[in-house]
Amino acid sequence: MDYLKVYPQRKNYFPPWKSNDFYYLNPFENFIKSDTADVTYLQLFLEHRAHYNTFIPVYTDGSRVPTHSSFAVVFPDNISCFKLHPSCSIFTAEMTAALHALMQISNGPCGCYIIYIDSLSVLQSLQSFRYHSHPLVFEVLDFYYRLYSRGFTVLFCWVPAHVGISGNEQADKAAKSAAHFFNTSIPACDLKKHAKTNLHLKWQRQWSLETENKLHFIKPLIENWPILKNRRSDTIITRLRIGHARATHRYLLLGEEMPMCPHCNCSMTVLHILIECQYFNTQRLRFFRTTVVTLPVLLGRNPHIQLLPFLKSIGFYSLI
Ligand SMILES: [Zn+2]
Repeated sequence: MDYLKVYPQRKNYFPPWKSNDFYYLNPFENFIKSDTADVTYLQLFLEHRAHYNTFIPVYTDGSRVPTHSSFAVVFPDNISCFKLHPSCSIFTAEMTAALHALMQISNGPCGCYIIYIDSLSVLQSLQSFRYHSHPLVFEVLDFYYRLYSRGFTVLFCWVPAHVGISGNEQADKAAKSAAHFFNTSIPACDLKKHAKTNLHLKWQRQWSLETENKLHFIKPLIENWPILKNRRSDTIITRLRIGHARATHRYLLLGEEMPMCPHCNCSMTVLHILIECQYFNTQRLRFFRTTVVTLPVLLGRNPHIQLLPFLKSIGFYSLI
């Protein structure tokens, strides 16, 4: 049986007195992606490569689809690509690619290498790690410094994605086509997020079946709705959403008869007052500009702006 291997939560290789000298090259830092043509990026990259032509280029990329994440590492003479556990984030995939590149470099001849990554967040995390950083940040930095101590020169460089840099395109394509799983530990933060997302999906699937539930009609999607700034208004909206107002339910506490609508002689419910009772059509027309309204429109994520004035005009506001 396969067990999930989880990274220890605090695997920090860096004692406080050790400084982090990690830095990365960014030949494109003065160019804004939306304002820069692909051809300009390619030109800049060629100039950069001409300057660093003695460095062996290594391209890495991570990819994420709903079923799994994956990564690829492209050396001039070989490409490796692997799938990761479905809970691994795109950040973990990108960071695993960087680690895998360093591991491959360490198995090769001692020399000068540049690892090209299109994820700025990965490079920034490596440059300014914190005690609570992603566990792979420490693993990558540890490997990087060990290579340095063995005489390797490894630089990291950011490249823009999808501008036609062939190594980056190759890495992107290879990551997406990865077929074999890479047996590695999973960061606890990824597992937690994965479990949370799956539980939420399961909850939503169950809730989506509750079509007869009056609460489902108002709130079909499970999500956090904003709280109104005014406490009194928020209480009123909540009571209306769950359909329990003083006027409609106090009879249960007082042991009285169920209240009836004095105009229609049917049971007085929130639905009846807000939507059904024809007696209030004039006020509906005045406040909502229509006599046909629905509970989701009046009480949904953003309650109708005229709802409270309407309730005051029909005298129901003080009975909620
Ligand atoms: Zn009525």
